[in-house]
Amino acid sequence: MEFLEHASRERQLTLPKTADVVIIGGGVLGTSAAFHLADSGRKQVVLLDRGPIGSGTTPFAAGQTGYLNCDEFALKFGTYCIEFFENFAERTGHTIDFHQPGSLRVALTDTFKRDLEGRHDAARGLGHPVEFLSHDRARELVPTFHPPDDCRILFIPRDGWVEPKSVAVAYAAAARDRGVSIHTGVNAQGLDIVDERVRGVRTCEGVIQTEHVVLAAGAWSRQFGQRHGLNLRTVPVRHQAFVTAPVVGVLAEQPIVRVTEPQVYVRPENGGLLCGGYGYRPLSLDMDDFPDDFEIPALKADAVYYQQLTVAASKFFPALSDAVVVQERRGLPTIAPDGRLLVSECKELPGLIVASGCGVGGIDRSPGVGRVVADVVNGDQSWINADMLSADRFGDDYRSDRALRAQCEEIYAHHYHEIY
Ligand SMILES: Cc1cc2nc3c(=O)[nH]c(=O)nc-3n(C[C@H](O)[C@H](O)[C@H](O)COP(=O)(O)OP(=O)(O)OC[C@H]3O[C@@H](n4cnc5c(N)ncnc54)[C@H](O)[C@@H]3O)c2cc1C
Repeated sequence: MEFLEHASRERQLTLPKTADVVIIGGGVLGTSAAFHLADSGRKQVVLLDRGPIGSGTTPFAAGQTGYLNCDEFALKFGTYCIEFFENFAERTGHTIDFHQPGSLRVALTDTFKRDLEGRHDAARGLGHPVEFLSHDRARELVPTFHPPDDCRILFIPRDGWVEPKSVAVAYAAAARDRGVSIHTGVNAQGLDIVDERVRGVRTCEGVIQTEHVVLAAGAWSRQFGQRHGLNLRTVPVRHQAFVTAPVVGVLAEQPIVRVTEPQVYVRPENGGLLCGGYGYRPLSLDMDDFPDDFEIPALKADAVYYQQLTVAASKFFPALSDAVVVQERRGLPTIAPDGRLLVSECKELPGLIVASGCGVGGIDRSPGVGRVVADVVNGDQSWINADMLSADRFGDDYRSDRALRAQCEEIYAHHYHEIY
């Protein structure tokens, strides 16, 4: 809170005329990039947001983490992320509201039971204490959960969830401690491009000359790129969740439950249940269809999505069918056509580094995204070969808006069904 007051006071200060790196967007990705850049020793880093810190999709997230993957790259990346959350205060000097009760991943069909076994074996191979649970044990851990007779349930103890805005705020505070200059209420209007490379950012309060711009503008990143002739393959796709009033039997520290086939997740929230799901009425959006002053809280609810989600989740959590909804959450996470992150410098426009394509996992992946951004700016490839996150990896694929949006909706429709 104190930090936010400081940040808004800083708005009064003059914008620097030059910077080493300018970050556009103070969501969880932009603030993590600011922290990691400053922590790596970069001086004169400037972070801009047209609203306050964490005013886009970030505060509406369920904030769940999930590091376990059979894919080697994703597991290495995910392990950095979970270790970062486990040691957040030591790494940054600021606390976040992180809970680590673990998760139950539930599979109903043979295909996904096999996938669960793969995840189990991969984790055990690394010495992580995952285990299959009996139905009785699962119900002890999550009393409101009714597992179907023939499902399999994998317990992943290191999974957890975090209050999402607290993460962006803590990254921003830690970035500022390390010298990052944060300016809220400043709209980045475009880039200055000279000799086909980035030389500055134009804002509503003047130009900042810089050789490096990090585009972490969430749902608006594609639109920002289009204004400079770039076709960034990252599309905002609507995602919705809801929170109920307190429900008898919900434990404050019960594990998250993720049911693979109907793609639903349920976790505790203030004595009630937070429920979300993928694949319900996938809808990608073009930010040019919104007014310039559109903000995420104005995103209209899709009542049918909520209905379908409630019906699907109630099979496993009967209490949801008549629970009182006390909060709806929705926003516009960004999705790339292969479901992977987009974190790299753009070959077409040297000096522009994109941080996008978070899927519905930007909170979870934010530590790794921030680190890759810092590595790209510093030319350091010692941690991870991030070629597969390149913004240029699609070549001529998905050039048209229609093909791109259709594919990103398809990815959203099958998010939990992806088998690594
Ligand atoms: C209901 C729901 C549940 C979710 N659950 C999870 C979950 O369990 N786990 C998880 O990891 N993720 C989850 N997510 C996804 C997560 O919220 C996103 O991946 C993440 O917040 C994206 O962060 P971001 O920084 O890319 O974008 P944003 O948070 O949208 O930030 C972008 C920022 O850029 C600023 N901006 C835009 N254009 C400009 C400009 N021209 N000049 C200056 N500033 C600009 C905006 O004001 C905004 O603050 C969920 C999302 C939703 C909606």
